[in-house]
Amino acid sequence: MNIIVCLKQVPDADEVKTDPETGRIVREGIKGTVNPFDMFILEEALRLKEQFGGKITLLSMGPKDAIHTLYYGLAVGADEGYLLSDSKFAGSDTLATSYALSCAIKTLGLYDLIMCGIKTTDGDTGQVGANLAELLDIPSVYYVNRILSYQNDFIKVERFLEDRSQILEVHLPCLISIIKGANVPRMPTLEGKIEAEGKQLKILNAFEVNAIEKYCGIEGSPTRVIEIFLPEKRKKGVILKGCREQNITKLIQFLKNKKISIFGMCS
Ligand SMILES: Cc1cc2nc3c(=O)[nH]c(=O)nc-3n(C[C@H](O)[C@H](O)[C@H](O)COP(=O)(O)OP(=O)(O)OC[C@H]3O[C@@H](n4cnc5c(N)ncnc54)[C@H](O)[C@@H]3O)c2cc1C
Repeated sequence: MNIIVCLKQVPDADEVKTDPETGRIVREGIKGTVNPFDMFILEEALRLKEQFGGKITLLSMGPKDAIHTLYYGLAVGADEGYLLSDSKFAGSDTLATSYALSCAIKTLGLYDLIMCGIKTTDGDTGQVGANLAELLDIPSVYYVNRILSYQNDFIKVERFLEDRSQILEVHLPCLISIIKGANVPRMPTLEGKIEAEGKQLKILNAFEVNAIEKYCGIEGSPTRVIEIFLPEKRKKGVILKGCREQNITKLIQFLKNKKISIFGMCS
């Protein structure tokens, strides 16, 4: 089974900052790490490879130092990695990002399965996987908890929705996203890190993946950040101490003053 795992480098949780002028996340000079949600897809891909054989190709788009994210994936057992990095991709929203990734995937050749994380800890939109599947014209299944079987160009998966779970059979090639906690991601070993040094790791630009310039970067991004602001801080509440009956009376009066109905009987 040939699997493409999309790994994104995100800023370390403690280092997330936004530029007040542009509303964009500041990425320069910030320590990056593998998007924690992508660890679950990587682990699932490794398990599939152990069971059925095949190849795991890592794909990331980002600045040059996102190469460390790919090294991490190679060190835990992926076979090769590609980083899309080009100033033409700067300013990409989720659509332009998905477009660039789709161009790279088309260039890389045949695949059975693409895996995306459920979301990222920085952009947090959860849109890229579904966009990507649309651009590649393949089915996608989100919120997968378990891959149950793989047979005759189909995979059977269990996915969790809010109030139920579903068992779905999906034709390959397809894209899936795995939920947080579906497995316990493994960590790289020293041996894995040494092996990673010898694996194929390539940086690709827009030209090399046949990306059309007008769909890339700012030009290809319909999203505009109008404003960015912190939500208003919640005011401190009042703690009612002392006599229970008096407190109930005070509370009822407070709700009446605010014109908040108590069991629909406020007057
Ligand atoms: C107007 C605008 C301008 C922007 N400019 C920039 C910019 O200049 N530089 C910049 O870095 N970001 C920029 N961004 C943010 C960028 O669009 C998002 O980081 C990107 O689209 C991914 O969105 P997300 O983090 O919400 O991913 P989600 O949709 O939440 O991610 C889901 C999954 O998709 C995959 N995935 C997502 N992004 C990538 C990736 N880059 N590589 C590989 N796999 C991926 C991962 O598997 C991930 O778990 C900009 C956003 C906007 C709105």
